[in-house]
Amino acid sequence: MIRRWLAYPKIHTDELFSSWLIRVAHEFGCDPIDLTSSLWPNFRAWTIDIDRQIDAEKLSILLALINEKDVYFNNSFLKQHFNHVSNKLHSNANWSWVIPHGIRNRRQITGIQFCPMCLSTDKNPYFRLNWRIAWYTCCEKHKVNLIEKCEKCNLPHQPHRVEVINGNNYVCFNCGFNLKLSNTEASSELNALIQQKCDVMINYKKCFNWGVNSIQWFKLFRLFISLISRHAGNRKSNLIKFFSLYEIDILKMKKSSTGLAFEMLPLNERKILLSSAWKIFDRSYDDLKVNIETCNVPITTFDLRKNEFPKLLLEVFNLDKLPEKRIKSNKLIYKNKPNSEKVVLRMYARLKRKIS
Ligand SMILES: [Zn+2]
Ligand SMILES: [Zn+2]
Repeated sequence: MIRRWLAYPKIHTDELFSSWLIRVAHEFGCDPIDLTSSLWPNFRAWTIDIDRQIDAEKLSILLALINEKDVYFNNSFLKQHFNHVSNKLHSNANWSWVIPHGIRNRRQITGIQFCPMCLSTDKNPYFRLNWRIAWYTCCEKHKVNLIEKCEKCNLPHQPHRVEVINGNNYVCFNCGFNLKLSNTEASSELNALIQQKCDVMINYKKCFNWGVNSIQWFKLFRLFISLISRHAGNRKSNLIKFFSLYEIDILKMKKSSTGLAFEMLPLNERKILLSSAWKIFDRSYDDLKVNIETCNVPITTFDLRKNEFPKLLLEVFNLDKLPEKRIKSNKLIYKNKPNSEKVVLRMYARLKRKIS
């Protein structure tokens, strides 16, 4: 016979599944890892991204204990929301627009972003699903940038590693700093606006100026982000002119210190890329077509390695399909000469981000 949980914290409508599990564990006086090991003995829950989705069998065990139907967790998993963002939600790959944890054992490279003021004003502090999304860089309610690291020890926050002895999900798992006391800085209006537009798209699938469905819309926006990212600091005159038509000074923009995928970049780098790409994305298809033709921008300026290059962009270049010799092999090319200092420094920054 199932012994139901008589009392447990209720999940908030915008709460991440993992955040709720952690709160339940602390309420029951145990570590999150002990709770999940007792729920699912052969499942190492914290070594995967359980916020994407867990399988129906594991979920049913939990639902039986709390005597709820599966709609109870309707908003708590990323997959429910991201079906409108991407048609490629593979379990073994990172998802576009979702900040990956970069999990190694129970350790995470990126942790979770948070708003210290939300945590301060919550009756029972909890972590929002939105804080896992890469277009989220600020809290619209408190008009401050989100925080991604503990300001005392510089480690990303990983609430599942907060032991019950520390009692609260808002203290740093490593040094015990009260994250509610983190210093904040004012957010930018443009970044807040971008969040709102992306939210409208994901929730209502409402299209603005590109006449495409939500999946294509997010794909286009993401492609403009990689366009800016790969050409930051570029000195080619036609590209400088093209970007200047959107008031983007590409020459002054710094290349990412790590070169990691957009979703894994530090918040400050994501903020700049989002607001710059938005300057292109917020204008129209016709505008892009004219500017590309005027500045003689080739299709290879875009990242063509992505599968399913948006049809709309092919039309901008008057093409039906991508040119044959479009893709440089991803295979490693072994060179005899050593890497330049710049390349080595970038590799080092990447490694540091991954192991910090
Ligand atoms: Zn807030
Ligand atoms: Zn800390």
